[in-house]
Amino acid sequence: MREPVVDTPHPSPPIPAPSLPRARAPQIEALGLDPARPLVIVDVDEVLGHFMEGFGTFLATRGLEFRVERFALFQNIYRPGEDVHLAVEEGRRHFDDFFRYGSGDMRVAEGSANALRQLSEKAGVVILTNAPGQGRLARARWLGRHGLDYPLLLNTGPKGPLAAALADQVRGPAAFIDDLLPNLDSVADTAPKVARFQHVADPRLRPLAPAAPDRHTRIDDWDALGLAIADSIA
Ligand SMILES: [Mg+2]
Repeated sequence: MREPVVDTPHPSPPIPAPSLPRARAPQIEALGLDPARPLVIVDVDEVLGHFMEGFGTFLATRGLEFRVERFALFQNIYRPGEDVHLAVEEGRRHFDDFFRYGSGDMRVAEGSANALRQLSEKAGVVILTNAPGQGRLARARWLGRHGLDYPLLLNTGPKGPLAAALADQVRGPAAFIDDLLPNLDSVADTAPKVARFQHVADPRLRPLAPAAPDRHTRIDDWDALGLAIADSIA
């Protein structure tokens, strides 16, 4: 039990929220990035790579179907001929396996490597992906094979805290690119000065992906996206 406080002329200041994610954030210099340059923080799945397509190909090797019916992962996995999707937990196991065994075959998003190469002449590039830890090696190899060999950070949950901690360390402007609104909203909340872009690589998913163009610029073509990012960090 706490002692009752009898003499407080002013209310206590609010206790700051724990800042663990920021404290744990890697140092920009340790990633080989220059804090004097702008920073581009970019997602992998459905941004640099055709994740849904690759996952679908992987599921087919296990006799399963991935139906692009809604903008969701685990509710789209079916046994052939069935109308009810696989249990979400079962889907999650295939998802984890995909990162370990199948994600190396994913097709790169058209124009993404070229756009990042051009951006990297003016800015640091860091890849921030919500991949499970056991997928790190396959992911790093995939990035290297496709000319996307930039520092790789794995994250879980909303990306705002880590994006904010990275952006705080550079003196120039920063940009963030992701396909998922919760990540974009998280960055808007945590690091509002970071320019935000939504990109959905798979043409089948584009009409299904929720967008919020009043909050985050939506550009599904990497040539146009690269130019818009360059403008935002100029
Ligand atoms: Mg993604």
